[in-house]
Amino acid sequence: MANLLKKIRIVLVETSHPGNIGGVARAMKNMKLDQLYLVSPNIFPSADATSRASGADEILAAAKICDSLQEAISDCTLVFGASARDRTLSWPVLAARECAEKIVSDGNLTNVAIVFGRENSGLTNQELDLCHFLLRIPCNPAFSSLNLAAAVQVVGYELFVASEQRQEHKLLTSEREALATSQQLELFYQHLHQALIDIGFMHPDKSKSIMRRLRRIYNRTRLDTKEVDILRGILRMSQGNKCNE
Ligand code: SAH
Repeated sequence: MANLLKKIRIVLVETSHPGNIGGVARAMKNMKLDQLYLVSPNIFPSADATSRASGADEILAAAKICDSLQEAISDCTLVFGASARDRTLSWPVLAARECAEKIVSDGNLTNVAIVFGRENSGLTNQELDLCHFLLRIPCNPAFSSLNLAAAVQVVGYELFVASEQRQEHKLLTSEREALATSQQLELFYQHLHQALIDIGFMHPDKSKSIMRRLRRIYNRTRLDTKEVDILRGILRMSQGNKCNE
């Protein structure tokens, strides 16, 4: 999944304040992003940028400078335009978290760009025309414009969390045994039912609602075959090894 974050580039369009470029580099490094593209920055390189980067200098040093947004995104298959404002024309809008999930769940991911606008005027409609989706950070509607580096921080955080969760999910699913089939589960429930009667926990005539509740507990956990084997082993022991099914 680390590779996934490497395919995501942050594109800043005509940034006025070099300090903001440094702040963006720092936010990116915090979130394991390292592809920075600068479209016609006002002042760059700059001591202000380096000082605000606070140790993320290598991202600044490797930043690619482009003359146009088209150039910065030419090899990307998915482009998001981050915008604080509602637009009169309707672009499909996704919240930052939805964008991150979209990127992370895309199996054939090639390069992805997330484009951020100018501090004073954001992105033009022509620039947004180059984007597949508009990205919105949900916030106070009466004060919706975040500082540029803060906006990159929030988006980077969502990307980081989404990619970590994806990795964890992959690990969990790859290490797990096959999930129990509904037939295996039914045999387990029959066995449980019988064992609970055998040990005197419940009466056969009054077992319905308890069994329904027990099913709910086990169904929530999505048992795998090994786990069903273990549980049935316990049931057998509780029955004094009577049931050898
Ligand atoms: N004054 C500008 C906003 C500039 S903020 C305007 O009216 O558009 C600089 C950039 O940060 C924006 O262009 C956008 O890319 C990003 N940004 C700031 N707040 C945002 C938000 N709430 N949602 C998405 N992007 C945001």
